[in-house]
Amino acid sequence: MSDARHFDVPNYEEIRDTALRLLPANFRNPLIGQGLACEVCSAPIDGLMTRCDPCLRQRNNWTGQLADIVIPLSYAGSKNPQARQDLWLYKNSDHPEVSRLALNRLSYLIWYALVHHGPCLEAILGPVEVVTSVPSGKAGKRPDGHPLEQLTFYPTQPTRVHLVRTRDAVERVVHPDSIEVAGSLAVNGKHVLVIDDTWTTGASTQAAAVALRRAGAARVSVVVIGRWLNTSWGPTEQFLHARPADELWSPEVCPVTRGTCPTPS
Ligand SMILES: [Zn+2]
Ligand SMILES: [Zn+2]
Repeated sequence: MSDARHFDVPNYEEIRDTALRLLPANFRNPLIGQGLACEVCSAPIDGLMTRCDPCLRQRNNWTGQLADIVIPLSYAGSKNPQARQDLWLYKNSDHPEVSRLALNRLSYLIWYALVHHGPCLEAILGPVEVVTSVPSGKAGKRPDGHPLEQLTFYPTQPTRVHLVRTRDAVERVVHPDSIEVAGSLAVNGKHVLVIDDTWTTGASTQAAAVALRRAGAARVSVVVIGRWLNTSWGPTEQFLHARPADELWSPEVCPVTRGTCPTPS
């Protein structure tokens, strides 16, 4: 493990040790590669493709405007029910203690990924200058009241801006006009990191990326906590079936490359 490259943050060793105790059983590393998983979102793909259908369609419709990189941190599927449950519970549970524990696990996942592999992202796209998160799908909700705000973090503490949903999101449709960048001056010419909790087709996440580019962002990176898998779809079922049932999340896998960490530039 490339310990030398991580960001220096307070209580580093203590948090790392807890993360390494907590994460392996609860999450699953996303894969990448031709005929294996989508190069954008890590969804299982069929045959010799490099992208899944939604990512292909989005590229055709929004060439040059989508996120420069998408970094999924875990699959959320039937073989990793904890990630799936946590992503639901942290926002929706009626029991504060249950939401708190779910939020806690997700926080360690994002902390570990960004403290250890933020430098990997920056080796490819330069320093992260602004951080934000994808707003809830419903218009009119206060952006700073959304639970995802608690997971919106980057170790170097860059400028934070809010994305505001002005109209309800439409499922599976990339609709950047429904998102307003509050603080567009702050994103102009900058490398913006967008944090999202769940990716299903990526439509709302990519809409945020397009809205940020229209507001002048020079580069847009996306970190997604869970790549939600539709386990009733044939190739996904086969893909999950082919992976060992006892497979655990490994800190050795770089979420930026979904392989080894890139060499520092
Ligand atoms: Zn994809
Ligand atoms: Zn890395």
